[in-house]
Amino acid sequence: MTTSYDYVIVGSGIAGLYAALLAREHGSVLVLTKGSVDDCNTRWAQGGIAAPIGAGDSPQRHIDDTVAAGAGLVDPEAARVLAEEAADRIDDLVDLGVPFDTLHGEIALAREGAHSAPRVLHAGGDSTGAHIELTLSSVARQENVTVLEYTLATEIIVEGPAVVGVRALDERSGETTDYACRHLVLATGGAGQLYSVTTNPEVATGNGIALAYRAGAEIMDMEFFQFHPTALRLPGAQPFLISEAVRGEGGVLLDVAGERFMPAYDERAELAPRDVVARAILDRMRRTGADHVLLDVTGLDRARVIARFPQIYRTCLEHGLDITRQPIPVSPAAHYTMGGVRTNVWGETTLPGLYACGECACTAVHGANRLASNSLLETVVFAKRVVRRSIERPDTAAEPTPDAIDLSPATPAESPPLTRDALRALMWERVGIVRDGEGLAAARDALSAWQASLVPPTDRPSRELADLLVCGRLVTEAALMREESRGAHYRTDFPAPREEWRRHIVFRRPDGRPSGRTA
Ligand SMILES: Cc1cc2nc3c(=O)[nH]c(=O)nc-3n(C[C@H](O)[C@H](O)[C@H](O)COP(=O)(O)OP(=O)(O)OC[C@H]3O[C@@H](n4cnc5c(N)ncnc54)[C@H](O)[C@@H]3O)c2cc1C
Repeated sequence: MTTSYDYVIVGSGIAGLYAALLAREHGSVLVLTKGSVDDCNTRWAQGGIAAPIGAGDSPQRHIDDTVAAGAGLVDPEAARVLAEEAADRIDDLVDLGVPFDTLHGEIALAREGAHSAPRVLHAGGDSTGAHIELTLSSVARQENVTVLEYTLATEIIVEGPAVVGVRALDERSGETTDYACRHLVLATGGAGQLYSVTTNPEVATGNGIALAYRAGAEIMDMEFFQFHPTALRLPGAQPFLISEAVRGEGGVLLDVAGERFMPAYDERAELAPRDVVARAILDRMRRTGADHVLLDVTGLDRARVIARFPQIYRTCLEHGLDITRQPIPVSPAAHYTMGGVRTNVWGETTLPGLYACGECACTAVHGANRLASNSLLETVVFAKRVVRRSIERPDTAAEPTPDAIDLSPATPAESPPLTRDALRALMWERVGIVRDGEGLAAARDALSAWQASLVPPTDRPSRELADLLVCGRLVTEAALMREESRGAHYRTDFPAPREEWRRHIVFRRPDGRPSGRTA
């Protein structure tokens, strides 16, 4: 090991930077991030951050909404912590300088689908994430937090039962360095790049989940991947998110023939839960043979649309589309990784010394389906707890889960060459919004064959691909095991929830062998 720190934090999104700003009061801190500091999911977050701070709202209502959205798999303690600690974390963000939008001198609160009260704080209209990321990175710079950019964590270093450091590759020099630490915090975000259509930026490759899995930590709920119903679908344009709030404001979904179709699928029409809307859109796309449907806001007040959605308005205009005059072509896209590195409500993983927070972690606070705007909140609530725990009880870890069920080992077989595009297309087709046993089994075989023939990765692209492959296997194996439909996991061969499946699927890799268990 060349250098030693109290804390090494991997990732510079909201979870990593907020944890770093807290941890610096308790010891030396190093942040590793594989791109530039602001290259992360956080800066793309639009709608906002939930907190039950409005008149008439309460933590209990927020808990109830979170539990209801999670389709029977939300951990009640995690939901309680999330809602009860929300107001304090919002105060922290305000103190750090996040410029939340106000109305008549008070923080403005928007209402989003499945929230029973207005409780979503936003900044710059629909640019909440960009404002948070900019604020936190500026404070980190002022406070001299050391952030090593273009530095990819490639391996968690374990000695005996405990994590003692991390190995990282400097992309610019090609050199590998070991960083020793007392506390290693994974804040590496999600794995949206597993899918060929995603709202996530290129850095969202599930590295932290794969690193933790290889090190022997437990991974949970990987079959639950949230697909957002409406991402911009234009030739040459990234699938840019068109926020739920656009439908909340009165936007309607039309098929390419101009017919409004959501009322035929669900009585809540455009405001039905994300998974219901995503499946309905997919079905309508298949029936019409189109690769998109249309989201129409042309009937809404023009000035209001521009004021409420400046980023969406600007981005579409850059692609030649004036959304106040023309409907927006949209299709569903992979959006949020509900599963991840299993932690308790203190962000502790099952490996002493290793913590996880933010999208890469899984406290089961989202259960089978995340409530909109709970993810930004989750990052700060649990990052704060990670740092508190590291001070108060530095030597503890999450209880491991017994009763492991082995996964099938990777087996060599004939397979087309492994590329990122091939992997993403396979996941989209077979392990996407609508799944079935036959498709999942075919995907499992292909992924297993790819893994068996993988050559050891050397650089960032090959390491990201190897990590995506690990995540792809975890998602697929769990989806195959879960013979029911629940939350974001939908199987045509098991279209209803089944009581015996009201449990989590947990994977871990004891003795170098991939395995899993249900709990
Ligand atoms: C388009 C979009 C809109 C969204 N809108 C909302 C919203 O309105 N409200 C809401 O609550 N949530 C929203 N979300 C989700 C939310 O933005 C994310 O869940 C949250 O920002 C995750 O924060 P994070 O810090 O955990 O991860 P990220 O912000 O993704 O940061 C992860 C960091 O880890 C780094 N990293 C990854 N692997 C490595 C490695 N091996 N080595 C070094 N560094 C690594 C990355 O480069 C990055 O810096 C949205 C997401 C997207 C994509």
